[in-house]
Amino acid sequence: VLRLESVRKTFGRSVVLRDVDLEVSQHTVTALIGASGSGKSTLLRCANLLEEIDDGAIFLDGEDITDPRVDPDAVRRRIGVVFQAYNLFPHMTVLENVTLAPRRVHGVPRAEAEERAHELLGRLGLDGKAGEYPDRLSGGQQQRVAIVRALAGRPRLLLLDEITAALDPELVGEVLSVVRDLKEEGMTMVLATHEMGFARDVADQVCFLDGGVVLERGTPAEVFGEPRQERTRRFLRRLV
Ligand code: ATP
Ligand code: MG
Repeated sequence: VLRLESVRKTFGRSVVLRDVDLEVSQHTVTALIGASGSGKSTLLRCANLLEEIDDGAIFLDGEDITDPRVDPDAVRRRIGVVFQAYNLFPHMTVLENVTLAPRRVHGVPRAEAEERAHELLGRLGLDGKAGEYPDRLSGGQQQRVAIVRALAGRPRLLLLDEITAALDPELVGEVLSVVRDLKEEGMTMVLATHEMGFARDVADQVCFLDGGVVLERGTPAEVFGEPRQERTRRFLRRLV
């Protein structure tokens, strides 16, 4: 579904991504782990064309989306994103938040967008919240609404950046279980996370980023169980 080839990203003189190769197959979950500043968010932002890359190429379903002739909005319509801060519009109800993009961007008729929204809200345990404003919801509920919003456009791929980082510990579980359910349904996802237990549990592929380099990649058993690099071992040791 998604492929990065020798992606290089710099901000001024600092190299943030260095020859990053990444292959994400359909129906799989890829977890990006690594210290703060290692480039996880930047990688996700590049994949969604929020950042322009300096070198290399990114392919979505085989199409080079970093080709300057490609319409970035058309690419973003195929990718759902959820960030750490839920970024819901406070002056809009849950239903309005969720149906805004399908109606405005995808041109879906209101009735159809609302039907899909209600179905997704139900699936994510948000029945009866459609008419609420975001500030009346818990952090976990708000983050689930943000996931519903990302799913409303029927994306090929979901990019999730530290979606539990802003949540109280007791609310983390409900959001993670939504990700687990989406995996069961076959959604392809790339997520940046500091939740190692979760990465180990849900990911098919784990990539350890260190200073913008994919230093280690493999199955959770390989990366967590028998890391080859000393730096990976040190990173994982610091967390336990
Ligand atoms: P965290 O775990 O804290 O979220 P991260 O792995 O997501 O970290 P990034 O946010 O991708 O890290 O940042 C990687 C590096 O790129 C950092 O050194 C950061 O300072 C730098 N960086 C990110 N965005 C910008 C920007 N817009 N301008 C300049 N430097 C940036
Ligand atoms: Mg980040």
